[in-house]
Amino acid sequence: MQGIKINMLVSPNCTINPGDFVPPATDVIIVGAGVLGSSLSAVLGRDGRKVTVIERSLREPDRIVGELLQPGGYRALKELGLEKSVEGLDARIVNGYIIHDTESGMVVEIAYSQDQTQGGRAFHHGRFIMGLRRAALTEPNVRFIEGTATYLEEENGCVTGIQYKDKHSGKIERLHAPLTVVADGCFSKFRQSLGSERVQICSNFVGCILKNSPQYKPNYAELVLSCHGPILIYQISSTDTRILVDIQGRLPKNLSQYMTEKIHPQLPGVLLLGDAYNMRHPLTGRGMSVALSDVRIWRSLLQNIPDLSDNTPLLQAKKKFHWERKSSHSFVVDVLAQALHELFASQDGILKRINDSSVSFHMGIKYWKTRNVQLAPEGRPSPSSL
Ligand SMILES: Cc1cc2nc3c(=O)[nH]c(=O)nc-3n(C[C@H](O)[C@H](O)[C@H](O)COP(=O)(O)OP(=O)(O)OC[C@H]3O[C@@H](n4cnc5c(N)ncnc54)[C@H](O)[C@@H]3O)c2cc1C
Repeated sequence: MQGIKINMLVSPNCTINPGDFVPPATDVIIVGAGVLGSSLSAVLGRDGRKVTVIERSLREPDRIVGELLQPGGYRALKELGLEKSVEGLDARIVNGYIIHDTESGMVVEIAYSQDQTQGGRAFHHGRFIMGLRRAALTEPNVRFIEGTATYLEEENGCVTGIQYKDKHSGKIERLHAPLTVVADGCFSKFRQSLGSERVQICSNFVGCILKNSPQYKPNYAELVLSCHGPILIYQISSTDTRILVDIQGRLPKNLSQYMTEKIHPQLPGVLLLGDAYNMRHPLTGRGMSVALSDVRIWRSLLQNIPDLSDNTPLLQAKKKFHWERKSSHSFVVDVLAQALHELFASQDGILKRINDSSVSFHMGIKYWKTRNVQLAPEGRPSPSSL
C-alpha cells in the first residue's frame, strides 16, 4: 500500500488541503480480527465500505476467552445477520444457570427465559472467531492482511492509518484510510497511546477442559460459590466442558468506569473498540455481548456518515456511541460485573460480613438474576430493579 497519498481529515484540529485529496483504496482499517474486528468488518463490508483488516494471526485462536455468548449477545449477533457464525461449531444452547453455594449447600436454578429459543450459545472460542472471519471474507469489500500493526500514523494531529509488519514478507508496510478502528484486544498495544491509564489486573481465571463430563442439568451453565472463589462450568461442545477458576489478585476499584470514561481516544480518525476500549471482569461472561452490541451501534452510526473523512459527524457519533452504549448495556454490565466479582469472589467480604449465609446467598442470586437474566434478554437494563 505504499505510495498512497495521505488524505487530510476534516476536523477542527486538522488542516484541510483539498488539492491533496486522493480517494483512499480503503475506507476503514481494522486492527485485530477478534470478536469485534471480524464482526464489524463483515457488517461494514455489507454496508458498502471497503474494509482492510490487519490480524497478526489468521490461524484458529486457541484461547480460554469468549466461550459463552449470553442471550443478549446472541440476539445482537442475529441482528447483525451473523448468526451463521455459530452454526456447525458443535455449539451448545445455554438456557440458564445453576448456582451452587458450597457453604450452605443451596442450589438455585435460574432460567434465562421460558422460551428455549432465547438461550445463549457456548462454543470453542477459536471456532466462533473463524466463523466470524469466514462471514467477513465472503464480503467482496473486505480483505484480510496477516500482519502485526506496529504504529498509528498521524498527520497534523489526526490518525491517518497504520504501519504494520507483514507476516509473510517481514516488511513494514503502511496503510491509510479515513477511519482506523483499533480492536486489538485486552492486551492492546495501542490503548496507552490512545489515552488510557495503566490497566490493573484484578484476578486471574485459570481454565481447563473436562472430556465427556456429565452435566448437572443439560444446557445449563453452573456457577459454584466455593470458599476458594467462584468457579464457572459450562459445556462448549458435545464432548468438552470448560471449568474456569477465579484466582483473586488485587481488585482495583472502578476499573470498568475509568476504562470507559478515560480511555476513549480523543484523536480524530481512530476508534478504539472491543476489549481494547472497555473490559469487565469475565466471571459473568458478557464481553462478546458488549462487543456485538457496540458493533450494532457503530454500524447504524456509520450508516449516517457517508464520508468517513468528515471528522465532525464522526466526533458527534463518538459522543452518541458513548451515551447510547452507556444507557443500553455497558454501564450496568460493567458495574455489575465488578460488583458480582466482588460478591462472589469475596473470601471474608460481603458474604461473611453479613454473617448470614442464606440472606447473603439470596443477595448474590438477586444480583446474578438482574445481571444475567433480567438484563440480558431485554437488552435495556434497569438498575432500579436492584
Ligand atoms: C478468561 C476470559 C473469559 C471470558 N469469557 C467470556 C465469555 O464467556 N463470554 C463473553 O461474552 N466474553 C468473555 N470474555 C470476554 C471476551 O473474550 C472479550 O470481550 C472479546 O473477545 C473482546 O473482543 P475483541 O475483538 O475486543 O478482542 P479479541 O477477541 O481478543 O481480539 C483481538 C484480536 O486482535 C489481534 N491483535 C492483537 N494485537 C494485534 C496487532 N498489534 N496487530 C494485529 N492484530 C492484533 C489478536 O490476534 C486478536 O485476534 C472473557 C474474557 C476472558 C479474559
